[in-house]
Amino acid sequence: MKKVLVIEDEAAIREFEVINLRRAGYEVLETGDGKSALEILENNNFDFDLAILDIMLPDVSGVELCRELRNKNETIGIILLTAKSQEMDKISGLMYGADDYITKPFSPSELLARVDALYRRVALNKTRSENNFKEEIKFGEFSINFKNFSLKKHGKIINLTQVEFQMMEYFFSNQGTILTREQILHRIWGEKYSDEKIVDVNIRRLRMKIENNPSRPKYIITVWKTGYKWIN
Ligand code: CA
Repeated sequence: MKKVLVIEDEAAIREFEVINLRRAGYEVLETGDGKSALEILENNNFDFDLAILDIMLPDVSGVELCRELRNKNETIGIILLTAKSQEMDKISGLMYGADDYITKPFSPSELLARVDALYRRVALNKTRSENNFKEEIKFGEFSINFKNFSLKKHGKIINLTQVEFQMMEYFFSNQGTILTREQILHRIWGEKYSDEKIVDVNIRRLRMKIENNPSRPKYIITVWKTGYKWIN
């Protein structure tokens, strides 16, 4: 079953999400605040594929909740709901582990396109994990593990989110090749995406995890005005 937790305090928006997700075949649990969201997650052993998280909640900031959720579950897909005026929160949310965001107001088809795309990624990684697919591939001082979505550097585990894991996989299979922002965006998020800033934010997050000095990266190199290149 495709299981989603909707966290939104505005009842009308929450209902709109829940109705549309259920119609599309998702099992949906819903709540209006951060405290009960964590309770629901814990009572269900964090067994959710996705969480859709409003950035403005009554008891806790969505960004904080996103960080807490990500700390407790590396593999859950997280989509932030934001308003146009919340650009900075959106960026911090992505830095703290959200996989995607939707700007209010949004249509049912936009909601479902984003949710379906992220669900496909989460499900794919789950299948791989269950089937022990490929297991581990080594590249220089790094090795990538398809069973627990982890990356090791000199044998030390670096935990990755879905998005970070897929980015690493993409870089590893294209070493020394320039990957444009657009290519990365389309490969990881899907063909319909156009906001290339989400790529830069995720690269920044990945660098903080893997580089010796994130401000002077030696593995993920920026190619001016074009994109990124993996060198190892
Ligand atoms: Ca709200």
